[in-house]
Formats: sequence, C-alpha cells, structure tokens
Amino acid sequence: MSIELFICDKLKILKIGSVKAHSGSKVSEALFVADRPAHPLYMPFTIINGVNEGPLVAITAGIHGTEYVGIAAALDLIQKLNPKDVSGGLVIVPVVNIPGYEWRSKCTCPVEDDYSGTRNINRLFPGKSDATIAHQIAHVLYNQIVSKANFLIDLHGGDIYEYIVPCSMAYTKGDKEFDFKVAELARYSGLEYCIRRGIENLDGRLTVEAAKIGVPAITIECGDHGVIDEQKVNLALDAVMNILRYLNVLAGKPKEYPYPKMIKGMVVVRAKKGGLLRSHVRLGSNVSAGEKLGEIQGLDGGVKEAIISPVDGLLIQWSSNPSVTSGESVVEIAEFG
Ligand SMILES: [Zn+2]
Repeated sequence: MSIELFICDKLKILKIGSVKAHSGSKVSEALFVADRPAHPLYMPFTIINGVNEGPLVAITAGIHGTEYVGIAAALDLIQKLNPKDVSGGLVIVPVVNIPGYEWRSKCTCPVEDDYSGTRNINRLFPGKSDATIAHQIAHVLYNQIVSKANFLIDLHGGDIYEYIVPCSMAYTKGDKEFDFKVAELARYSGLEYCIRRGIENLDGRLTVEAAKIGVPAITIECGDHGVIDEQKVNLALDAVMNILRYLNVLAGKPKEYPYPKMIKGMVVVRAKKGGLLRSHVRLGSNVSAGEKLGEIQGLDGGVKEAIISPVDGLLIQWSSNPSVTSGESVVEIAEFG
C-alpha cells in the first residue's frame, strides 16, 4: 500500500486552514464555519503532527451530535496520543455538528433553516459554501480536512433513539486496490460485523464522498441511546488504535482479526400501528423470517400489532423509543452476504 505524508512545506508542517502544527506537536484550534446572529460558529479540531513520515488520517465524530460514545472516543484519542509516538499526522474533529451537540438534537443540525431539504449533515457532503449552515458545516469539514487526508475514520453510533450492535460500515467502489484498503480498515477495526455497500445512490454521506475522491474510509458504529457506556468507548478506541497501528501511524504490531461477518444490506421494519413497543428478542440475536420480534401495545393493554422479521438475519438495531407512531422504523435486520 502506498501511503504518503501530506506535507505543506519542507519543514513538514501540517496546515489546516490558517492553523499550523510543526513536526512533533499537538495543536487544538477551531475552524470558522459561519457567522450566526450572536456568535460565529466554529468547528474545533486537533492536529497531531508526528515525528516520522506517514499518512495523514482524519478522525471525525459528532456529525450526529448525540452519538456520545464516538465523541468521547475522539476526545480520549486527543488526550492519549503523543506526537512523538506518531508517524504521519492526525486531524481529529471530536464534534462536527456543534449545534446538534449543544441542542442535543438527534441526527440533525437544529439551526439549519433550509426546511426544503434535509437537516442531516451526513446527507449533505461535500457541502456548499454558499448555502445554509448545515451545508457550510459539511463544506468546511470536507474541503479543509477530509479532502486532504489519506484515510478517514468516521465515528458514529446508534443515535439517541436507537440501540445498535457495534459494527463498521465500509463503502466500496469497484476498484480492487481501493476496496481492499477499505476491507482491511474494517478487519483491523476488530469489530465483528461490517456493513459493506457500494457507493451508488448514497450521495452525501461523508465516507461515500471521501471514497469518490480516493480516500479510503470507514465508519465505526459504536454506542447508542444517548449515553456514554465506557466499555463501548474503549471498544471504539481500540478499533481506532488498531487501525492506526495497521497504517503504521502508531508503532507496534496491529492485532490480527479475521474478516468481519459481512452484511450486504439492512431491512427496515416499520410500525403499522402506533402504541407502546415491547421487544421480545435481544439486540444482536440471529432471527428467522417470520419470527415474532415484539409487539405494539395499545392503551387498553391489548396487542395492536406483532412485529415480525421479514428476513433471516441479525437483529442489528432496535428503536429505544417505546412510544411509536405508525410509519416509524422500529427494528432493522442485517442480511449477511
Ligand atoms: Zn451517526
């Protein structure tokens, strides 16, 4: 694999926006994103510039501002990593979506005013500089950080309304060498499952847009339900550290893992009735087509609807909001393949 250090001059200074980090230094700063009614919006980031040559790895978290495990793992990485132990460089953005983080908004940028479109920043990459604020956040991250990186690790998890089995997501594009790199990132994450999809029809996702410009990228989904589970923070941290060892950014032999169990797609089961969701099958169970997974209970206590798995697969996601409205996703089944 050929990996090159992003070098902006002969002194091997890493430069993001107007912020420079000399070799062997760690610099925490913020990029200007947009002017707001009272205060400008900035995107905090940390550059860790190593002492030897190596790749530049971008690590992002908090595109969804209530996926706290990824945010905590990014913060721990910033504290844990010493530039003297690093070859190449890292740019870590612990919270991409600062408004979502401050407002505890599930999946969205709460101050986005373009109601004709989505407020989910992870559908808006590569972003636009001349559009509303969610587009500007996407534009700054993509153009000033991700497009300069050799690799991208994007930390996510189940959002505040869901439980999810920890897994990676890898987007391939039919290029043998590129797809191999992405598969290796998934393998060295050590996570048991990987959702592998082609990039077609998935425009706007950060890792997909990174793939389009040749940046191998992996999404790590770990943690859920708006809480910080320290075991899951450590799981995400271990995944990132092992990938960094594999990329020779950190010294030491990476831990070897078998390839993860590959998931080819997710089948969403939506509620037909409103009511209280009662789950009978544990997250992470293998389920069969036709199996009853739970039920929706009305306010007289009676069962209004049985939740049935339409396919064989892994029960990878449950809604953690028990009060459901018809049409909402209540469970997702991952199909292997
Ligand atoms: Zn997310």
